[in-house]
Amino acid sequence: MENCLFCKIATGKEGTKLIFQDRRVSAFNDIAPKAPIHILIVPRIHLTSVAEMTREHEPLIGYMINVARKIADEQKISSDGYRLVFNTRAHGGQVVDHIHLHLLGGHRLGSMV
Ligand code: 5GP
Ligand code: ZN
Repeated sequence: MENCLFCKIATGKEGTKLIFQDRRVSAFNDIAPKAPIHILIVPRIHLTSVAEMTREHEPLIGYMINVARKIADEQKISSDGYRLVFNTRAHGGQVVDHIHLHLLGGHRLGSMV
């Protein structure tokens, strides 16, 4: 996906500082944080959203959650807790059409649902 912003960021072409990177996944700070800690975990391959995932993506999505858990530990927000969010398509508030997992924490977030 040549013109996909998160494809570029995840593969290091955009110059955004990566908090974490390996063969499958990258993580970086959200440009407009909605909480003291707001990190996005994205796969290096292009996948548009949860709605497009298939069985072959199940290990990848599980891995993204595991990376989020490890980053939460590193950021020292695990004991107080945090929120993981996959906004999906228009009504879900998805703006960037490359699947991403929001890791939010650092203060009490309040109820959303
Ligand atoms: P969505 O609403 O699609 O679930 O979330 C997209 C997120 O990406 C938003 O929280 C937005 O602030 C963030 N974002 C959009 N453009 C950029 C960018 O160029 N760099 C970074 N680091 N975050 C971005
Ligand atoms: Zn992409």
